[in-house]
Amino acid sequence: MASTEIKNFGIIGWPVGHSLSPKMYQAAFKSSGFPNYNYIAMPIQAGRLMLAVDGLKGLDFRGINVTIPHKTHIIKYLDSLDADARIIGAVNTVVNDGGMLTGYNTDVTGFLAALAEADFMPEDSNAVILGSGGAARAVLWGLCKRKAGYVTIGARNAEKAKNLAADFKRYGSIEGYDWLSEEFKENLKTADILINATPLGMYPDVISMPPVDLKLLPEGALVYDIVYNPAKTKLLAEAEKLGFPTLSGMSMLLLQGKESYRLFTGENPDVDIMWRILKQELKLK
Ligand code: NAP
Repeated sequence: MASTEIKNFGIIGWPVGHSLSPKMYQAAFKSSGFPNYNYIAMPIQAGRLMLAVDGLKGLDFRGINVTIPHKTHIIKYLDSLDADARIIGAVNTVVNDGGMLTGYNTDVTGFLAALAEADFMPEDSNAVILGSGGAARAVLWGLCKRKAGYVTIGARNAEKAKNLAADFKRYGSIEGYDWLSEEFKENLKTADILINATPLGMYPDVISMPPVDLKLLPEGALVYDIVYNPAKTKLLAEAEKLGFPTLSGMSMLLLQGKESYRLFTGENPDVDIMWRILKQELKLK
């Protein structure tokens, strides 16, 4: 039977108007017997984060998603962190239990669940990550959790790539390089998977792609772009032309949302309706 209880949820970020989350969660709540659960987009500027978090407690919001630029800064206003969020150093989901706020990172869950759906086993694999920002940290932690054999990070800023590798050194064999360097190119030749965790190729700049020579990858390497808009980025289109299997960021987006929904409600959502909304919003057939 449908619940008549009212609970409030939302997403905070700046900007946040483009977020697909309100429609995705609202449809899932409605379809799963929570017609009085509300989910809204809340544009919050950086300087107002502390006030905003207090407001969420005051208004008894049950849960929120967190996006750029608050994923790291919100940590200091939370009461506890789940282990993944602590290690990654970023939160994309907050659950409010009677005024106690706990931070989670469901990007890592979504990333790994999408890999599992694509039948890719990270264990002992050679992985290459492009980028060294927040999403790259979640991807790297996912690969470490699943005991990848060797991870190479390539970024435009070699120092950031090396620092990220150093941060996770205790969890696996990881090196960071300038993505134009010869050492980096050498590592492409043995990669089982290449993951783009930069925004290159994301709408509206859809003609961009990271500067990697895909021809260096061995046959059968999986090319995974966590960018989800467009679903087929230039990187994925080029990889497809060369005959590589590909994976779009759409499934990670859906599956991180599925995990956040589970944390918010204690139940699994209707993923079919969430998928339909995402496809509709991204104008896919
Ligand atoms: P971020 O923290 O800002 O990090 C972006 C990374 O990309 C940094 O390493 C940055 O390098 C690099 N970069 C940015 N612009 C670049 C350019 N023009 N040329 C070369 N490198 C560039 O962002 P993020 O949160 O990690 O997000 C990265 C992407 O992942 C976004 O497109 C986001 O939408 C996507 N994402 C998808 C999902 C999903 O569910 N599918 C989840 C999370 C994120 P510098 O440090 O040198 O600036």
